Order: sequence, then structure tokens, then C-alpha cells
Amino acid sequence: MASKRDYYQVLGVDRRATQEDVKKAYRKLALQYHPDRNPENKEAEENFKEAAEAYEVLSDPEKRRRYDQFGHEGIRGTDFHPFTDVNDIFSTFSDIFGAGFGGSIFDDVLRSQGRQRQRSTTGPAGSDLRIRLKLSLEEIATGVEKKIKVKKWKTCETCSGSGARSSSSKITCPVCNGTGELRQVSRSVFGQFINITTCNNCGGQGRIIKDPCLTCHGDGRTQGESTIKVPIPAGVSEGNYIPIRGEGNAGPKGGPAGDLIVVIEEEAHEVFSRNGDDIILDLLVSFPEASLGSDIEVPTLNGRARLKIEPGTQSGMILRMRDKGIPHLNSYGRGDQLVRVNVWVPTKLNAEERSILKELSNRENINPKEGDKSANSDKSFFERMKRAFS
Ligand SMILES: [Zn+2]
Ligand SMILES: [Zn+2]
Repeated sequence: MASKRDYYQVLGVDRRATQEDVKKAYRKLALQYHPDRNPENKEAEENFKEAAEAYEVLSDPEKRRRYDQFGHEGIRGTDFHPFTDVNDIFSTFSDIFGAGFGGSIFDDVLRSQGRQRQRSTTGPAGSDLRIRLKLSLEEIATGVEKKIKVKKWKTCETCSGSGARSSSSKITCPVCNGTGELRQVSRSVFGQFINITTCNNCGGQGRIIKDPCLTCHGDGRTQGESTIKVPIPAGVSEGNYIPIRGEGNAGPKGGPAGDLIVVIEEEAHEVFSRNGDDIILDLLVSFPEASLGSDIEVPTLNGRARLKIEPGTQSGMILRMRDKGIPHLNSYGRGDQLVRVNVWVPTKLNAEERSILKELSNRENINPKEGDKSANSDKSFFERMKRAFS
């Protein structure tokens, strides 16, 4: 047996470290070497076990006292035994690892581990399904219920997911006698070792199928298709996702179904673009409309609406139509429609039009003077708009 490292050295703490220090140091190492973060890494697993062993001794005042006095020899004969299975580490130090209670720093890392640790009478959980759903801006503005077809693993109807041909074709696993685990006890000078492993014969379920279901061949599920209604709230945006519990793939042998994750995609709109919850419309107006002012009809996300163009409206000006945008997803109210005015310069003119324009072009008020500003060159206006669009 390789000689053991000093437990204080393993945790990187001083001999006078307090219980809190020991706990802190262990947390840090456990997070670093956690199997979820180091899949298939033997060395990390060994470090993980070593840290757990050191923590088991140093966190127990009586064991720590004996260890301080007699070293590794000192803890022989106590109820101490080294960890052979990482899952035992999780159950022994559930206060450190959270064990399903909120607030632990390990919650995120350990969620998947927690799932695996629960012994269940069914198979493992099915996988989640991701599906992308395209929505138009109009649908996003009102909210919509979508029906989507999903190809997925479904619970076998013949055997209701059990995988067995009849209720009597499931029998207690003869290898583990129904416990789902195998215990190997060995004795050595260091004390009693108990090695617990999952029973291979039944996959830890304690029961095996003697006569498999003819439809699913014992898997408990079949390939199928479901139509699922997905309610979409108004105001969602690209990349938002909506999880629908239990609509993912069914798990094998009656295992619970995973989730269906609906990921929102926003279709590009022909006339509108989106800026947060505001909608931007680029609008062309004629020179006379911009100069004389007018009352025109513009498209909005729910039908057409009237918009007043004030006399002397400059190209580049942005007019705000209050509450014509997209509803806020998580609060009351909605965005606005911003209309960017662009003065249209005609490209085709007949002789009469040309002569009218020529006549106009000589008039004093028609031509810009030094110091006149368009909407785009007005600094304060530009700043305001930049804020509106950021
Ligand atoms: Zn078994
Ligand atoms: Zn079946």
C-alpha cells in the first residue's frame, strides 16, 4: 500500500486550522476535482477521494485528535474507512454537497450527480429535446399558441414502459437479490473495507425482465411523434427558450421523460426591424409632404395607423408612435414604433415637372443656407436618437 500523504498537507491547511478553515479548504478542492468537472480523469478522481478522506478525519474532532497524536495509525480501529466509490463521498458529506438543498455553491455542478444518485425502480430519465421555433414579429407582438410536431421516444403502449411482456415476467434479480447493488467486504490490517458497486445484471434496478415486451424488445419505449401545444407569451425575443416539462424523450424502461426545450427564432420582417421592444420603420415621404406637412397612413404591427408629419420635417428625423411596439416580456407596458423619415428624391421627371422644379430651385427658401441643419447634422438631436437606439 502506498504511503499516505499528510491530511493537513492534502487540504493545504495549517495544523492549527479551525473547523471552518478545514471545511473551506475541502470545499475548494472538492469543487476543483469534482468528477462532473473532470470526466474520465483518474487522477482527479484520486485527488477527489484523497481530499474526502482527509476531510473525514480532520472534520471530526475525535478522529483529528487521534490523527494529531498518532498519525495515520491513530485512526485505525475507529469507524473510519477510505472511500472507494465517489458516490459514497456525496452521501457522507451531504452537508457540503447540498444534497438537493438550495443555496449550496455546489448546486450547479452537482445537479446531474444528484440525479444519478437517486436509486429508482425505473430506468434512467430520457434526454431533453431541443427544437427551434420561428416566429414573425406580429406573432411576437401578440403572443401566440403554436402546435409543433416532434419526433421522439415515447412510452411503449404495449407494456406501459415496463419492457416486460406481462406483469409476471419481471423477476427479482438473482445476482443482487433485488437490492440493485453489490457489496464486497474485505478485511485488512487497516480495518474493514466495504466496496459497493451497482449490480450489472439489473443496472441497479433490482429486477430483471425475463420475457421482454414484443413491441419494444424490453426497452419500454418506441419511436413516435407527438403534437405539442406551445404557448408563447408576447414579447419573447431571439434566443429565449421555453422549457416544456416531460415532453422530451421518454426514458428507457419506464424512466421519466426529459423536457422539450423550445428555442425562439425571430423571422426577419419585410418592413420593420426590432430594437429591444421598439419597432423601427423606415418611411419615405415626398419633398412636398415633408415641407408642407401631412397626415399619412403607416403600417404598424397590428394594422395601419395615422401619423402626422409636421411642416418642415427634415430627412432623418425620427417620429415616435407611443405604445405601438412590442409588449415587455416581464413587465407592464410596451415599446414604441419609431418612424425614421427619409425624404424621397424623385428620379423620373417629365418636362412639366422638371420646369416646375427648375422654377422652384431659384427661390430663396428652397435652398439650404449656411448654418441650416438637417436632422442628421443636429448634434443634440443625433445624441437623443443614439440613446433611443442603444
Ligand atoms: Zn441486480
Ligand atoms: Zn413494450
